[in-house]
Amino acid sequence: MAVREIRIYPDPILKEVCAEVEADDHEVDALIQDLVDTMIDAGHSVGVAAPQIGVCKRVVVVDVSNSKLGRENNHGLLTMVNPEIIRREGNKTMREGCMSVPDYTGNVDRAESIVVQFNDRDGNRQVINASDFEAVAIQHELDHLDGLLFLDRVSSLKTDIFRRKK
Ligand code: ZN
Repeated sequence: MAVREIRIYPDPILKEVCAEVEADDHEVDALIQDLVDTMIDAGHSVGVAAPQIGVCKRVVVVDVSNSKLGRENNHGLLTMVNPEIIRREGNKTMREGCMSVPDYTGNVDRAESIVVQFNDRDGNRQVINASDFEAVAIQHELDHLDGLLFLDRVSSLKTDIFRRKK
């Protein structure tokens, strides 16, 4: 259990495509705990992906239940190992931020609802339907596993990126 340092853009690990977690990987549970600890330490952010703490494996945690935008519609704490989006519907544009890109936010178009399958912390296969802010948060975190940041998703670097007020 540990709060880990967040890797900041342009750290090269944030551009890597991460490896699938093998069934006999005994370090995954500790990795999940570090992700949860790091997410909560960061003022309960809505998610962290493993490469953001320097481990390029396909693991993310997402929890929008503490956020204003996600409070009404969520699955609580999701720990996702080898997640895959198997259906996307609709369209939603939201202003996104990222702990690895601390000085900026950006407007990003994503699917409004998704079906995602993954293994949970106990290794059980799960399939869930997520929508609205939770779906956006999941899509954002899964992008990290493919080396993509929200900066790679905005339509225009000139008009859709905003400097955060200090
Ligand atoms: Zn992020």
